[in-house]
Amino acid sequence: MSRKHLSLSPALNDYLSAVSLREPEVLRRLREETATHALANMQIAPEQGQFMALLARLVGAKNVLEIGVFTGYSSLVVALALPDDGRLVACDVSEEYTTVARRYWQEAGVAHKIDLRIAPALDTLDALLADAQAGTFDFAFIDADKPSYDAYYERTLHLLRPGGLVVFDNMLWGGRVADPKEEAPQARALHALNQKLQADDRIHLSLLPIADGVTLALKR
Ligand code: CA
Repeated sequence: MSRKHLSLSPALNDYLSAVSLREPEVLRRLREETATHALANMQIAPEQGQFMALLARLVGAKNVLEIGVFTGYSSLVVALALPDDGRLVACDVSEEYTTVARRYWQEAGVAHKIDLRIAPALDTLDALLADAQAGTFDFAFIDADKPSYDAYYERTLHLLRPGGLVVFDNMLWGGRVADPKEEAPQARALHALNQKLQADDRIHLSLLPIADGVTLALKR
């Protein structure tokens, strides 16, 4: 019993939201606009966003990396938790989706904190490393193409200071990571990364069974 997780019925999920969610109106509107999008399931749930904002506060985040922006919910929720002189480097390849993101960042008054880089994220991360920014970031969220997660992780780990936190999204990939017969490249890549992280003594590790599996890696 102690090893089990409480399963969330729709009613219990509603209760959880009712007693804990504090979603600012601008985030709610962004979420509702994104819900009409064909790829709406790429957006994180509001409870996960609130959790990430709390984590950013816990590590005293001022410099943040985000890999995978989509329509900007996670960057907005974290940017709102940063001090006014905080900075969030947001990496994405889509002008189209980040146009929505930029509109809401403006409206929420956090656009000045967000440095959007439209380019392959590996190029942006390499540029930050080449610019001597290793060890200067406090918090990172990795939520982009799954086969590249490990490459994002290695660069991100260099960019973080000791005590900096990496949050990875979708690490249970709908449960498919646990299926040894699974051949989808996303599931295989995430499974390989899960195994690597388990043995990685550069970090403190926790894989949380919330949302689609959220891994926390705290740099030693
Ligand atoms: Ca995701």
